[in-house]
Amino acid sequence: MSLWQELEHQYFMQTFERVPLTIVRGQGARVWDEDGREYLDFLGGWAVDSLGHCHPVVTQAVTEQAHILIQASNQFYTIPQIRLAELLVQNSCLDKVFFCNSGAEANEGAVKLARRYGQRYLGGAYEVITTSGSFHGRTLAMVAATGQAKFQQPYLPLPTGFVNVEYNNVGAIKSATTEQTCAVMLEPVQGEGGVNLPDDSYLTAIRAWCEQKGILLILDEIQTGIGRTGTLFAYEQYGIEPDIMTLAKGLASGVPIGAILAKERVAVFAPGDHGSTFGGNPLACAAGYATVKFIIDNDIAGKAKTVGQYLINGLEEMKQKFQLITDVRGRGLLVAMEFGSDIAQSLVMACLARGLLVNRLKPNALRLMPPLIIGTEEVDEALGILDSALSSVIS
Ligand SMILES: *Cc1c(COP(=O)(O)O)cnc(C)c1O
Repeated sequence: MSLWQELEHQYFMQTFERVPLTIVRGQGARVWDEDGREYLDFLGGWAVDSLGHCHPVVTQAVTEQAHILIQASNQFYTIPQIRLAELLVQNSCLDKVFFCNSGAEANEGAVKLARRYGQRYLGGAYEVITTSGSFHGRTLAMVAATGQAKFQQPYLPLPTGFVNVEYNNVGAIKSATTEQTCAVMLEPVQGEGGVNLPDDSYLTAIRAWCEQKGILLILDEIQTGIGRTGTLFAYEQYGIEPDIMTLAKGLASGVPIGAILAKERVAVFAPGDHGSTFGGNPLACAAGYATVKFIIDNDIAGKAKTVGQYLINGLEEMKQKFQLITDVRGRGLLVAMEFGSDIAQSLVMACLARGLLVNRLKPNALRLMPPLIIGTEEVDEALGILDSALSSVIS
């Protein structure tokens, strides 16, 4: 263990199962440790570094903004947040934006907005239906929304008003809908819960059900949004539109930010209903604007789709070679590979030793979520390392 890692153990609450690597610098899809060793980054800050590390447009936007104005509060108008809001509205199906600082906070706000809508239009309905295997964040309410017992058990009792039902089961959502229901909240593709892709008809059926019942569809696109799955937003691929959408992770390519977007008729917050000290901060919004503008102008989502398919094809080939690989799945550059036994941790370490960073999704699965700007050479390099790491782990 290095000195920095010893100090971390001394001073830090031990909530993270960290891999023994101290990253001190990043550029594009590469990072370097304190000894100057280079790594290919297929983890991308947990699907956050959409344009890779220190992309010139992001670094320039942050640097320039840091000389102009860093924080002014939402008591006043500031320009970067207005520019980013306009860009998001012009390029999505939604009409109104609220900025905050993280994914969990965006989802909290989305649920507050849905409850406000419920008070106004649905006779006080307040319940939100979510699904098993979902992940919506770490605040108490979002732990209640998250359909995974391991995140809930340590913190009982949880806030009420959430009903977790089986994922990818339209009937389960229908039978959980009552007079108290104000919204259904889903990730278009479940990220943290396993890179779980729904059946083709699932989201359209849920959209139709929400329409029929007059309840809201909240899409948590915190992980799937901003080009990650091959379109700017994942909902575009399913031919549906959400009433509320949340964003965070890749929105500012590494600078902390979150956003709630809503249709005009759903944006029912009145002055004083919701707020944030840092939300819409000029520095974060300048980074967000630079990121989203670059992604749109250069069709980074389309490139992520092509390169993602190339990666999935390569992994499928590897699956022919290694019987231990039981599944390869994903959309764009959100990809998982699953194994017949619990080798994910050993694989993470074997990849690390060979200069590749990957995420342990489950004891028997890895997640790959590299920066969206990678090319096929980087994918070939990663595939080569994965192949060698797998060989070493199973021998
Ligand atoms: C990461 C994530 C969150 C939580 O985001 P934080 O910024 O960690 O609070 C919520 N929903 C989804 C789908 C996520 O992937």
